[in-house]
Amino acid sequence: MSSKDWIEKDYYAALGVDKSASSDEIKKSYRKLARESHPDHNPGDAGAEERFKTVSEAYAVLGDEKKRREYDEMRSLFGSGAFRRGARGAGQSGGAPFDVSDLFGGGGAGGGGDARFGGGGFTDLFSTIFSGGGAGGGARPRGPARGRDVEAEVALDFSDAVRGVTLPLTLRAPGVCDTCHGNGAKPGTTPVACPVCHGAGVTTRNQGSFSFSEPCRNCQGVGTIVEEKCPECHGTGGVTKTRTLTVRFPAGVADGQRIRLAGRGEPGDRGGPAGDLFVHVKVRPDELFGRTGDDLTLNVPITYAEAVLGTDLRVPTLDGTVTLRVPPGTPAGRVLRARGKGVVRNDGRAGDLLVTLDVVVPAKVSDEARAALETFAAQTPPAAREHLDARVRRFS
Ligand SMILES: [Zn+2]
Ligand SMILES: [Zn+2]
Repeated sequence: MSSKDWIEKDYYAALGVDKSASSDEIKKSYRKLARESHPDHNPGDAGAEERFKTVSEAYAVLGDEKKRREYDEMRSLFGSGAFRRGARGAGQSGGAPFDVSDLFGGGGAGGGGDARFGGGGFTDLFSTIFSGGGAGGGARPRGPARGRDVEAEVALDFSDAVRGVTLPLTLRAPGVCDTCHGNGAKPGTTPVACPVCHGAGVTTRNQGSFSFSEPCRNCQGVGTIVEEKCPECHGTGGVTKTRTLTVRFPAGVADGQRIRLAGRGEPGDRGGPAGDLFVHVKVRPDELFGRTGDDLTLNVPITYAEAVLGTDLRVPTLDGTVTLRVPPGTPAGRVLRARGKGVVRNDGRAGDLLVTLDVVVPAKVSDEARAALETFAAQTPPAAREHLDARVRRFS
């Protein structure tokens, strides 16, 4: 079940209950409708089977407190008719149709699966919408509105981030249906005035000496209803639109960095300027190399004998190898530097490859090696521990 389903389907209507119905009322209505339409009671009746499916789907959402809340939130933001032109939201002065941003998360991958857009759950969805610059929910300035900022997330391979890479990014966002131009009606038909609110989009309820206006529930405040639905958008007036951008990630782009692409967000309303696209970069770790700023890091194990006697080490760099001299008497943990073998920026500045030497101790040695080591030990002065021994003696 997708978020698009939630926008398009009215589960309350499917269960024949009011939007404010209690969970008991919902359960009762569901049981009744499920019993009536159950395939066992209606053998061979395809219509009943379809009704049974619809009712079950609706109850799967409305019967679950958490899902129902999410559904309500979703519908109040993007309720069917949100795209339909001329929406008259009650108590909303401008009456501008809701301006929707990067709605359907979890969009398609770009080239070769290298670029991937973020998860798509509700949290992502709403944070994307509310972080939109300029076109917030409150009072909007008059005149053409600036398009909304769009946020996307991309995972880069370690080496692509170090060297820089150009990737196609696919963005999916809701837009107005081209078939019905957003009114939700089948081409050749037009939406008709809502019989409940007579086209006002609002209903008035009297309670004592007060009267309340609220958005009409029959038409969700649009004022019109669609009798024959547009086949393209199923009457919502909105469709998911896909656009592909090419984004250049500079050499040395770092994990957690946010890249701003001015004017590559949502197009503006009626000729307004476009919003910006913010791309959050995630860098996948490399199995060998680490990174600190523009320096690459690498751990290289050496034996005790190599540390004592010295050696030449041939180690990998990101795109080749380099030979490093380990001088005799090198202590464990010493860091050797291969200049210019780190991140090379576009302006020519380059980081280094920092090689940390790990002296490894064998868990087991052969008898010959043990004998040689014992000879060695007899020839070696003790380790310098006098400063510790003084402290140890205080406790003995
Ligand atoms: Zn349409
Ligand atoms: Zn109405």
